[in-house]
Amino acid sequence: MPELPEVETIRRDLAAELSGRAIETVRVHQPDIVLPPPGPAAFVDRVSGRRIGSFDRRAKYLLLRLLGDELVQVQLRMTGRFALGTSLPDPEEFTHLAAEFDLDDGRTLFYDDTRRLGGFRLLSSADWASIEAKLGPEPLEEGFTAAVLAAALADRRAPVKNVLLDQRRVAGLGNIYAAEALFASRLDPRRAAGSLSAEEVERLHDAIRATLLDALEHAGTTFSDYRAVNGSSGRFQDRLKVYGREGSPCLRCAEPIVRIVQAGRSTCFCPSCQH
Ligand SMILES: [Zn+2]
Repeated sequence: MPELPEVETIRRDLAAELSGRAIETVRVHQPDIVLPPPGPAAFVDRVSGRRIGSFDRRAKYLLLRLLGDELVQVQLRMTGRFALGTSLPDPEEFTHLAAEFDLDDGRTLFYDDTRRLGGFRLLSSADWASIEAKLGPEPLEEGFTAAVLAAALADRRAPVKNVLLDQRRVAGLGNIYAAEALFASRLDPRRAAGSLSAEEVERLHDAIRATLLDALEHAGTTFSDYRAVNGSSGRFQDRLKVYGREGSPCLRCAEPIVRIVQAGRSTCFCPSCQH
């Protein structure tokens, strides 16, 4: 599931290519990827002929802002991916084409989604504002200080790992980068979020930012489905220090990494050097 670095990588690719372009026609092949309201037919009708203002990201959402008062919120979820070109770059890889957006420069933005868990939603600015109001701070923005993280964790009895995954507390983190940031800051993922000292919160804050920036620099993590818009894989999977390393020696202390389940999600960590 793409997290902040993967979604941001895709956003950068698309923004460079799509800003200012017009969408001439839209074809939806899998109606269930268009989330109601307004439903697939109205979506096609209202997005066709519109000009793209900008391509933004908030949390794990892509936001295709249309000139005028609407935007398309895109969730990639498990298997959603984009390609851009005059024809499908690799028809063998794009076997579940769900939507196509023809642009005014002759190219088409293709959206493929094997499991069809992702989707598009057309929203007014006001509707988006009410969704956005519930999202936590963006960890790579300047305003995300250690004090902001401390406020997000304060008084929470839930494990710190679970709180980091809660998009209302901190936006954009998922299972991979929460585990990596906790490893980098030597914090036990089972600790109650509110029990972290100021010094520990600062360590975690620095680790979250450093981990996300490093992942962005390496175009995100690819295990199976995630690809950049040009089809290339991310490179951060080679730099993971704890995620997916169950049973392997800890890179810091050589004790075995263990895997536990927290709120239904796997967490890998080192019980001997994460406290
Ligand atoms: Zn260790």
